[in-house]
Amino acid sequence: MIPYARQQLNDSDIAAVVEVLRSERLTQGPAIETLERAIAGYCGVRHAVAVSSGTAALHLACRALDIGPGDRVWTSPITFVASANCALYCGAEVGFVDIDPGTRNLCVATLADRLERAARDGTLPKAVVVVHFAGLSCDMAAIGALAGRYGFRVIEDAAHALGGRYRDAPVGCGRHSDLTVFSLHPVKTITSGEGGVVTTSDARLDARLRRLRSHGIERDAKAWVAEAEGGWYYELTELGYNYRITDIQAALGASQAARIDEFVAARRRLAARYDAALAGLPLRLPQCDPAAGSAHHLYVIELPGGAAQRRRVYDGLHADGIGVQVHYIPVHLQPLYRALGFGPGDFPHAEAYYAGALSLPLYPGLRDDEQQRVVSALRRRLGEG
Ligand SMILES: *Cc1c(COP(=O)(O)O)cnc(C)c1O
Repeated sequence: MIPYARQQLNDSDIAAVVEVLRSERLTQGPAIETLERAIAGYCGVRHAVAVSSGTAALHLACRALDIGPGDRVWTSPITFVASANCALYCGAEVGFVDIDPGTRNLCVATLADRLERAARDGTLPKAVVVVHFAGLSCDMAAIGALAGRYGFRVIEDAAHALGGRYRDAPVGCGRHSDLTVFSLHPVKTITSGEGGVVTTSDARLDARLRRLRSHGIERDAKAWVAEAEGGWYYELTELGYNYRITDIQAALGASQAARIDEFVAARRRLAARYDAALAGLPLRLPQCDPAAGSAHHLYVIELPGGAAQRRRVYDGLHADGIGVQVHYIPVHLQPLYRALGFGPGDFPHAEAYYAGALSLPLYPGLRDDEQQRVVSALRRRLGEG
């Protein structure tokens, strides 16, 4: 089976993990700081906080911005459920902004319209979680301008976009948002097994994330309300979590971080080969402007025959040993979100996209002959080969 995604490990990754296994500390040791420095350095941002998953990172991002009951958080319906669930964890209300059918990212013009209405009704969001779908950055300058005008905070869900760029800077540089979240799950640009990272240029948010990552325990004596009672002393100042990443995982992530550019370049090359091989077929291909700086996390085609054709092609390709996937079922159509009042017809561009969407295999280790097999099988299943 050719999977839709898979990790790429080498001997130095394995050696880095073994080194931790032979060391004193399996968690809260030096590898976590090494990973944080590597990501902060890559992104050109002051602070990076490593945690146990991308989902934990999103939850902490919301908590660090004091999102709670009575607040609204908006995101895109075409994303992994975690981008919306993080607001529910905090007791906030979730709203969605329909996608731009070209970029498949949250549509900035629709966002602007909804904000104008929300400002009149007094229902403005406290934060917007923007998702860089498939690795292509949202228009952060436009979103930042809206955030300034309407006073909301911006979280970038960059789970797809480590190694991507927006204009002249890496995604996660901290210039265009309050916080940026990365995932280190094995299907993403680099992996730590499970893991996540939050970047920010704001020292106070960094301190808050570190405290919330470890139960809400304040380690900085200057911030304590009481006098230390001895060397063992610490203070619990707010309710946090155990969202720590282990040193075993962090060592893998840090070792992989040296190859972010290499991995993205391999993905870019494979995406360009798909663009060339699939041009002329009755399909909608992803936007492929190389200047857009995509991290090429996914290569999603849209089948014009919608849900029935997509199901046929999906089943046919699986029978051919090709593990195509669908990213994503619109979040608002999940039973949990329907129970909150959402339903079919709410976000027509997202639903139309979903009907035909199919992700082709894309990962740095995909060989050219395997990719050719994917293309040939797809042509046959489309009745074009
Ligand atoms: C993978 C992913 C997440 C969650 O990351 P985990 O590390 O799996 O918890 C969140 N948002 C998006 C868009 C993702 O693709």
